[in-house]
Amino acid sequence: MGATEEEEKFPFDINPMYEGERIRKTGLYAELGGQSKPGFELVLFEPEPENIKDGEVSLIGPDLADMEEGGKYAYGMIYRVYGEQIEKDLEAVIERRNHEYQSYIQGYMHLNQRGEIWVRISTDAVKKGLKSLKQIGRATIMLFKAELPFIERMEATFITDEEEVEKRLEEANQIYEARDMRSRGLHDEDVDEFYQCTLCQSFAPTNVCVVTPDRIALCGAMSWFDSRAAARVDPEGPNAPIPKGDCIDPIGGEYTGVNEAAVRLSSGEYDSIKIHSFLEKPHTSCGCFEVAGFYIPEVEGIGWVHRGSKVSETPIGLPFSTIAGSVGGGKQVQGFLGIGIQYFYSSKFIQLDGGWRRVVWMASDLKERVADAISDEMKDKIATEKDVKDIEELRDFLQRVDHPVVKGVIREVDGGRVTEGWAVKEEAAEVEAEAVPSAAQVPLASIPMMASGAGGGTPIQIILKDADISIRKIIVKKKGGK
Ligand code: SF4
Repeated sequence: MGATEEEEKFPFDINPMYEGERIRKTGLYAELGGQSKPGFELVLFEPEPENIKDGEVSLIGPDLADMEEGGKYAYGMIYRVYGEQIEKDLEAVIERRNHEYQSYIQGYMHLNQRGEIWVRISTDAVKKGLKSLKQIGRATIMLFKAELPFIERMEATFITDEEEVEKRLEEANQIYEARDMRSRGLHDEDVDEFYQCTLCQSFAPTNVCVVTPDRIALCGAMSWFDSRAAARVDPEGPNAPIPKGDCIDPIGGEYTGVNEAAVRLSSGEYDSIKIHSFLEKPHTSCGCFEVAGFYIPEVEGIGWVHRGSKVSETPIGLPFSTIAGSVGGGKQVQGFLGIGIQYFYSSKFIQLDGGWRRVVWMASDLKERVADAISDEMKDKIATEKDVKDIEELRDFLQRVDHPVVKGVIREVDGGRVTEGWAVKEEAAEVEAEAVPSAAQVPLASIPMMASGAGGGTPIQIILKDADISIRKIIVKKKGGK
C-alpha cells in the first residue's frame, strides 16, 4: 500500500504487514476494552449525506496524553457512513473491517469484534509521536475510504469515558441483537447461495468461513444477510457467494458447492465441510470465534466456553485461552470447534452430533446469556462450573440428572442414534469382566499361596498362574489427596 500525502503525516506506519502484531504487557502504553473494561465498535448507516462531517473524528473522554502508562480504559468506536450504494445490511460488513484496517497501524493491536473489542497501544508508538486517538480515527477513516470506495462520507466518534461507553454499549447491544434476529426465520434450505468470508486468511490461510442462514460466522459479526449485502457491492470480494450445489448430507449440512469452495479456499487442504457438525468434517476455525467448543471423550459430550468468560477453568482443566489455542489457526480440528454465539439459536445447532442433547457443560455466564436458546428438555441437564469441578464430578452430575449421553443420544431431527451411551457400554464391560474372572475375582482357595516368612502375621505373596487379568479403570491419586 503506497503512502498518501495524508498518511505521511501520521507518526506511525500503516501497512498490512502489521496485522497480527501483538503488544505484550512489557511494551504496553494503554489497554482499551478487553477483559476488564467495556468496549465496542459500531457502524451506523446515515441516509442523509449532509448529516455526516466527512473525515471528522471526535472524542468523548480522556485522550492518550491524559492516560496513565499501563492503564486500562473503556473504549467505544462509532462510525457513521454514507454512500449511494450503502444499505443498512452493510453496516455489519463495514464494521467487521474495522479490525482489519486498524490492525494495519503499527503499535496498535485490535482484537475481537462488536461488544468484545480489545485494543492495546504500545509505548513505542507513543514515543514515536502518537498523541491522540483522533490520529487513529483519521487513519482508520482514510483506510476505510481507500479500501471500500462505496463509502462516500464517514465520521467517527471515539469514547473513552467509561460511563458513556457503558451507556452506548447498551444501545449497541440492541442493534447487534436486531441484526442477529433477522436471520432466525430463514434456513439453509430456503436459499440457493451461501457466502464465503476470507478476511481472516491473512493470519489463518486455510480458514474457510462459510456463512449460511442457519450458521452465523464464527466471529459473530457476519450473518447471511450481511454477507449477501457485501457480495452485492463486491461480488468478487472476500464475501463472494458460494452456490450451494447438491445436498449430500441434510443433517450434517454437507453440500457439493461448499466442498468445492473448501478445496479452492484452503488451497486443497480440505475437501469437505459439514456445516452443522462438531466431530465429523467440522467447519474450520480461525482465531476469531466467539465461543470455543471442546469434546469430552470420558462422557461423550461437548463443553462450551466463550471469550471473555469469567470462568477460569473448564472441567477438562483448561482455561479458554488454552482451548482457543487448540481450536484456531484455520484448521479443521476434530474435537474442537469455534462458533458465533448466535449459532446456539440455530435450529440446526450441531445437529449431526445430537444438538443440545450432546451438550454436557457450559460456562455459567454463557449458559445464562443464551438461556432462551437451550431446549427445555436440556436446561437443567447441562452442568456449569458451579455444579462440577472435574470430569469425575461431571460424570456424577450427568448420571444424577439422567443426561442423554448416559444412555445414548438420539437425534431429535431424524430419530437417528448418535451414541450408545457410556452407562450402557460400562454395563456391557462389567458383564464381560464378570464372564472372564480377573485376578481379584479368582477365589483365594484356588490361588496357590506361599508364606514369605515364618510365623503368623507375616505378609503373604500370592502367585497367580495362567491368570487372565483385565483392568477396566486405573485411578491415579496424589497421596493424601481426595
Ligand atoms: S471469522 Fe470468518 S466471517 Fe469472521 S471476519 Fe474472519 S473470515 Fe470473516
